[in-house]
Amino acid sequence: MELIDTHCHLTFDDLIRDVDGVIARSKSAGVTSWITVGTDPQENLKAIELTGRFENMYAAVGMHPHDAKDVTDDTLTSLKEFARNKKVVAIGETGLDYHYNYSLHEDQRRVFAEHLNIAVELALPLIIHCRKAFDETMEVLDNHAGQIKKIVFHCFSGSAEQAKIVLDKGFYISFTGVVTFKNARIKQQAAQIVPTDRLMLETDCPYMSPEPMRKQKVNEPALMLHTAKYLAELKGMDLTDFADAVTATSKTFFGLP
Ligand SMILES: [Zn+2]
Ligand SMILES: [Zn+2]
Repeated sequence: MELIDTHCHLTFDDLIRDVDGVIARSKSAGVTSWITVGTDPQENLKAIELTGRFENMYAAVGMHPHDAKDVTDDTLTSLKEFARNKKVVAIGETGLDYHYNYSLHEDQRRVFAEHLNIAVELALPLIIHCRKAFDETMEVLDNHAGQIKKIVFHCFSGSAEQAKIVLDKGFYISFTGVVTFKNARIKQQAAQIVPTDRLMLETDCPYMSPEPMRKQKVNEPALMLHTAKYLAELKGMDLTDFADAVTATSKTFFGLP
């Protein structure tokens, strides 16, 4: 069995300090490829550097909506440079976060739209972070309608109704360990309607370990196996069949070998 953690932050302090151990445990659990996601210029650079150390590791580069207020033309120019690296397989994470509101909505929308332009220009998939801003996110995407199909809503936290809207547009949905939580009924209902050819898995580590490992403070790719098991069961599928299907989806989406 071969699983791909399509969204992790292996460059963050809690993980990078033991990255060889993290990768070894991940491989033992069957999680054999990783997309480490940048969130600011420094993390983008670190992510690209890390891809040089591990064969099946890829990077995504972007500016997190939290930091939209700091994004200048220079930031975007350097982002585009990073994105041309051959191990960069996506733009992101980008999007709108109206939960924490660390940046003004206006700045978040501007920076999100700029990421979309870069993804279109470089023909790269786009990883979206969307929190308490579903309608606004769809609105920005509608302004770019049809220009880009490879869009994934990462750490999906919406309802089945919202999942249907995303699927109808031809976009993809990715679930973290949060879907395994006992209080996550809404997300579980959403997961039920997402077909495996549009569904991907991620840890978003170091955050949010899945059940039954929630006590493990620092999440890591090895634990994604629990999320895979949970979702396979939810869908009444064999773990291997489910894993094969979502891995194929992830490879097609990100253009992995
Ligand atoms: Zn995110
Ligand atoms: Zn993330």
